[in-house]
Amino acid sequence: MFSALDDHGVPCVLYRRSTKEIEHLKKGGPFYCPMCEEAVQLRLSTKRAPHFAHLPRSSCSYKGESLRHQKGKLMLFEWLHRQKLKPKLEHFLPAIGQRPDVYVEWKTYKFALEFQCSVISPAEVKRRTRHYQKAGIVPLWIISEDKVKGKPPLLSFSEFLRNFIYCFDNHLHFYTFSPESKRFSILDIHQSLSSRKILVRPRSTFLPSLSFPDLFRAREASIQWEWWERSVYRYRTTPILRPSGKDRQFLQFLYLNRIHYSLIPSVCFLPLRYQPLYDKPAHLWQTRAIVSHFLPLKKGEILRMPSIPVRDILGKKTIDLMDEYLEELAYLGYAVKKGECWYKQSDIPFSQNIEQALRQDKELMIQLKHRDDKP
Ligand SMILES: [Zn+2]
Repeated sequence: MFSALDDHGVPCVLYRRSTKEIEHLKKGGPFYCPMCEEAVQLRLSTKRAPHFAHLPRSSCSYKGESLRHQKGKLMLFEWLHRQKLKPKLEHFLPAIGQRPDVYVEWKTYKFALEFQCSVISPAEVKRRTRHYQKAGIVPLWIISEDKVKGKPPLLSFSEFLRNFIYCFDNHLHFYTFSPESKRFSILDIHQSLSSRKILVRPRSTFLPSLSFPDLFRAREASIQWEWWERSVYRYRTTPILRPSGKDRQFLQFLYLNRIHYSLIPSVCFLPLRYQPLYDKPAHLWQTRAIVSHFLPLKKGEILRMPSIPVRDILGKKTIDLMDEYLEELAYLGYAVKKGECWYKQSDIPFSQNIEQALRQDKELMIQLKHRDDKP
């Protein structure tokens, strides 16, 4: 870390100091970590910028910062500094006991930039996010590019990544940065293809060419229907050789309802805009909703589908995924909304064989793609 407190509790930041100044500081001291209040050492090395380090036995969460993290936050700090935004490096916020990598104010907003180079638990991300929000600060989590596997447009999706999704103007995206290449990316999410794959459109910029307000320009990334059809095709035609716990439960559910997984109706795979915010794959919850809450009803009966609330990282707005699903079913003519209630409009056809199921997928794809292509 680049900042520590001196004996009088005054912050001492190592950024932009001459070698002489730093050597002078090193003779002074002692210095303390503002987070855990333990003594820290001022270190000079040939490989790294001068920094403060915890003692080996410390259990502080700010101990053992990677070189990439150090480099990255310094670059983000300098990037904001060049835009005359007066950022603060490792600015300690005593009221919430947190110290963002870079703190900056812009217009009437306060931001905490966190350059995330290690995998931390969803609970920890949520905890820190809520603390910032309580203090009126918007956290901007930027993930180290090496933590994201795969090659755009197709990326590996993980519980870790799901935690950092922002929803601006109803469009989902997340941020990555690589200090090595200085590439900053805003990854707009088209859709999730399965629990482990996500389709994105990267907007990558060389950091010096990016402006801070660029981070808030939302762009729509529409559903890519060819990718959707391919992923459903793969699901229908690939044997589930090593089912996970969730898969096994689902297969059991299908078995009890006398449905083979290759013949699940196409409308049980609908790629919804907010699906990436939900940890359960679309076909798992949509099939259950259709089989348990739709099939047993007669036409005209009221639909009672369980709501599925999802939120982005900032959690300002709760979105009901089931509502989005019902809207799609309504477009396809299976459901209808009257007043506040949804009603069953018509039956969903089941395929008798795989060829029929694949044809149904194709027809659905053409219908919805045609709708989305309309200006
Ligand atoms: Zn500490």
